[in-house]
Amino acid sequence: MSQVPARGESAIAPASSLPSYLQADNLGPWGNYLQQVDRVVPYLGNLARWAETLKRPKRILIVDVPIHMDDGTVAHFEGYRVQHNVSRGPGKGGVRFHQDVTLSEVMALAAWMSVKNAVVNVPYGGAKGAVRVDPKILSRGELERMTRRYTSEIGIIIGPNKDIPAPDVNTNDQIMAWMMDTYSMNTGSTATGVVTGKPVDLGGSLGRHEATGRGVFTVGAEAARHIGLVISGSRVAVQGFGNVGGVAGKLFAEAGAHVVAVQDHGGTIYREAGLDVPELLKHVKETGSVSGFAQAEVIANDQFWDVDCDILIPAALEQQITATNAGRIKARMIIEGANGPTTPDADDILQERNVLVLPDVIANAGGVTVSYFEWVQDFSSFFWDEDEINARLVKIMKGAFAAVWQVAQENKVSLRTAAFIVACTRILHTRELRGLYP
Ligand code: GLU
Repeated sequence: MSQVPARGESAIAPASSLPSYLQADNLGPWGNYLQQVDRVVPYLGNLARWAETLKRPKRILIVDVPIHMDDGTVAHFEGYRVQHNVSRGPGKGGVRFHQDVTLSEVMALAAWMSVKNAVVNVPYGGAKGAVRVDPKILSRGELERMTRRYTSEIGIIIGPNKDIPAPDVNTNDQIMAWMMDTYSMNTGSTATGVVTGKPVDLGGSLGRHEATGRGVFTVGAEAARHIGLVISGSRVAVQGFGNVGGVAGKLFAEAGAHVVAVQDHGGTIYREAGLDVPELLKHVKETGSVSGFAQAEVIANDQFWDVDCDILIPAALEQQITATNAGRIKARMIIEGANGPTTPDADDILQERNVLVLPDVIANAGGVTVSYFEWVQDFSSFFWDEDEINARLVKIMKGAFAAVWQVAQENKVSLRTAAFIVACTRILHTRELRGLYP
């Protein structure tokens, strides 16, 4: 039976009556996100009356993605696109291909995009997409057919002015090229602005590939300065050595840091005197993981959390730093290259232990910032050189970091809560300005 509120009854359902798929229990990353929102509500003043908006994704699309496999069978994959909030502009956020991805995870990732885009003040809402598949077991042809069918299925809600996907875990510029082409074929246009992170020859931006790692390094260096940590000679441990961790590791090594430990899906390697990062990057490019790198010792995966280091960069998946391992971490500073790597419980332990956490919503915002530059360049069909891109990126990252740092000092809160204060205030202010329709 439908429950129609009687005249005069509150039209906004209380939090306790959230639909089941939005509730915190057993929802992994989405539950973590809801806790992060609860922590910021007391700082939102009058805008707190709109806070429920942040707990309800605007639009969730679940699609079936059937494809012909090379062996003649038909396989079905589950795809998602979640638009969490579009108050400040079109939806924006990546697409990941991963065998374990869940709707709750995509909802959280979409919500963190809303927050991230507001922290760096790019004119976007937040969105995220995924297909539940291990792309490594697909042939190139299967991967292309799967990408194209997924793009067609979500084509009803994406577009250069509606929602703009980009690369994320296990997706890259080739996949963006197929997405751009599929959308363009379906709409009878050449719509370069429908996705970002494209190949440079297809309306992509110079500097986009390195942008997330460059942003990680930029805010890391700013924070290090504030706490008197000297990068040169410092010890760095990195989890995930792809587009984010690999580039960040390279930039830290170039600044004189010793990258002593790296962990990825292949295992964990360690070298007391520091790994040769350019050689390691070459090895990962050739073999697909850090495992088998000759100039390092192998340590157990769990020992990664005990490594003696000054800076820890989780740059892989969510929920890596939990109440179980947060007490073991030696680093003075954690820079979240991944989205959602630290649970709220772990945040509390780290804060108590005086470990500075640079939250994902600012630390890894360099990627979407250069995605924004790409989108602007596509609209104007006028392209900037790499120095200009990097200079603009660094300016935005430093400005956003300074603002978040100041709010943290003023309110005596963590950098995560400060970033949420800045972002949620911006999001809910536009929510209020736009008003409710009808
Ligand atoms: N996937 C990246 C992120 O999590 C980039 C998203 C984008 O460029 O839209 O921030």
